[in-house]
Amino acid sequence: MEKTIPELYGSLVFSDKVMREKLPKDMYKALRKTIDNNSHLEVDVANAVAVAMKQWAVENGATHFTHWFQPLTGLTAEKHDSFISPDGNGEVIMEFSGKELIKGEPDASSFPSGGLRATFEARGYTAWDPTSPAFIKDGTLYIPTAFCSYSGEALDKKTPLLRSMEALNKEAVKILKLLGKDDVTSVSTTVGPEQEYFLIDKEDFKLRKDLIFTGRTLLGAMPPKGQEMEDHYFGNLKPRVAAYMHDLDEELWKLGIPAKTKHNEVAPCQHELAPVFDTTNVAVDHNQLTMEIMKKVAEKHGYMCLLHEKPFAGINGSGKHNNWSMSTNTGENLLNPGKTPGDNTQFLLFLSAVIKAVDEYADLMRLSVASAGNDHRLGANEAPPAIISIFLGDELTSVIEAIEQDKFFGKSEKVVMETGASVLPHFAKDTTDRNRTSPFAFTGNKFEFRSLGSSASVASPNVVLNTAVAESLSAFYEVLKDVAPEKLDEAVHALVKDTIIKHKRVIFNGNGYTQEWVDEAAKRGLYNLKSTPEALPSFIADKNVALFTKHHIYSETEIKSRYEIRLENYTKTLHIETLTLQDMVYKQFAPALLNYIDDLTSSVLAKKEIGIAAGSATLEKTITKLSDLYEKVVLATDKLAEDTDKAEAIADAQEQATFYHEVVMADMEEVRGYADAAEPMIPDGYLPYPTYEQMLFYV
Ligand code: ADP
Ligand code: MG
Repeated sequence: MEKTIPELYGSLVFSDKVMREKLPKDMYKALRKTIDNNSHLEVDVANAVAVAMKQWAVENGATHFTHWFQPLTGLTAEKHDSFISPDGNGEVIMEFSGKELIKGEPDASSFPSGGLRATFEARGYTAWDPTSPAFIKDGTLYIPTAFCSYSGEALDKKTPLLRSMEALNKEAVKILKLLGKDDVTSVSTTVGPEQEYFLIDKEDFKLRKDLIFTGRTLLGAMPPKGQEMEDHYFGNLKPRVAAYMHDLDEELWKLGIPAKTKHNEVAPCQHELAPVFDTTNVAVDHNQLTMEIMKKVAEKHGYMCLLHEKPFAGINGSGKHNNWSMSTNTGENLLNPGKTPGDNTQFLLFLSAVIKAVDEYADLMRLSVASAGNDHRLGANEAPPAIISIFLGDELTSVIEAIEQDKFFGKSEKVVMETGASVLPHFAKDTTDRNRTSPFAFTGNKFEFRSLGSSASVASPNVVLNTAVAESLSAFYEVLKDVAPEKLDEAVHALVKDTIIKHKRVIFNGNGYTQEWVDEAAKRGLYNLKSTPEALPSFIADKNVALFTKHHIYSETEIKSRYEIRLENYTKTLHIETLTLQDMVYKQFAPALLNYIDDLTSSVLAKKEIGIAAGSATLEKTITKLSDLYEKVVLATDKLAEDTDKAEAIADAQEQATFYHEVVMADMEEVRGYADAAEPMIPDGYLPYPTYEQMLFYV
């Protein structure tokens, strides 16, 4: 019998319910304490959990277990071990110990480690993260883990994320205690990432070397119709796409991933999936899994799922909206404006903490979403600009202005807070969400960071957000900690006001796609870090090293190594792109064009032979035009090859990345310009790969 959705949901997850059923009561309690309060896990508890986990996994068909981790490749990694253990009599038993659950020892030497590899030994270890539930996939028990070097340096994305959540927790609880919220013992950040993607036919994909090697098309002219009619956005789903989405939902639900919303996006073949939000750590793990399962299910349906930020030039790329908030263990969303004055004070304090954080660490936020792929989107009038600013909406902005100018505010309710500002109007959520051009928008009870690329892990942007806000809260605590209780309201008001005055330059409610904003942002002194090579040095800027080390997110060594890895990743990406483009031009595009030119030339000659003059002049004109483009394409590719050699020879990593960006990428654009000018003149059948039209309009 088919399972109902509630039965199906989470059926492959070692959930709280399963733990409660399978574990002795005292062990369950001890584990819960570890999960909820980050307390140390005793060996006997680990052993009990291992036994229960194995039993549950085997019952559900698992034969293997793996420590699942997130190295700096941005992907996930796993090495499978079976549960079997020889019993000495030629038979096997299924075994799994607490030791095996808690710690694994994969060889770290083949994962990116930046400078760390030289300094530290190659061995690494994985450590169980009990705050993210284990699950079964393809007959294997997956145990979410953190990945560190033997000397404790983080080699993954999860470790700093957990550290940043801990930092925010600590600072937020301190502030809430000051405000009298004694029942709050922990604060966690929550994230709901909306994921965009493209689906194209698998057969088409297999014929495009650029998609295979780089994830995006490096050549390809726009078809007669693109996305200008906007007829795809929220359009009805084609049956084949609907079948895919249905299957995808089921696979995700089994893994306890609350996939909730799905719809067509702006570009043809583009879609979006949004889950219900979760604590950040779980949301990050789930997003990694979602991307993997999207790809897997796509192949089952004869599709390829493209997660690249810009698979097709001239057509909207894919991003990921990171909805972010903070919530207490008592279930309160700290970015919910609420209806009463008391909530307002607290809300305004946390809101100002975010404003201050974004203004002071905008460079880090920009850096956290920077990648070769995302460079094609940010600032290209389809995604937010590279300038990081905050959208608050009219209502909240007038509240902020009222506080700044000591004016009372309030249309409907004239209740005046002790802090001097009147009660916030209880505004409708959707009035705040109309501006799609802002990178960081307040959307009613959360912020939406919209600059993220579709393929990247959402860990890094959340590390930055959590840490920067923790820093604001820590600074606020210093100001407020010695204030007498009866003076606290006044002090909070003064602090909020002061923060707004200092940081309001980062608030912008207008259209972020315009040149006026670029100019205005420059006047306000905001960062405009246009490309990845330009953004990356912020990682090692003194103020940012100070931030990360103060809150124990990264050590200085970890920062340097990550900076190096990011540079290397950028350079490698562009290097593969240039080689792929050269390969496609020399082996596919130029020969195809030449074939067509040859065919045209043969017709002209044949006509001459039998004495027909009509049309020959026109043909010759076409031949001349195409021959001219042929020459330009080949010469531009020759130059690209030379500049690629030059790029490879540069020793300094930052200089090298910049050269790839400024010179090699410009060369690639030039090659593409000529090729795309010729392509619409080449009849179907000459090119050995599908065009944009074939890929985007027949799925
Ligand atoms: P949109 O208008 O952007 O579609 P939705 O209300 O549908 O907004 O929410 C989009 C995403 O934001 C969903 O993934 C949702 O779960 C998430 N979200 C809602 N509340 C929060 C919160 N407090 N913290 C983090 N994410 C949240
Ligand atoms: Mg959204």
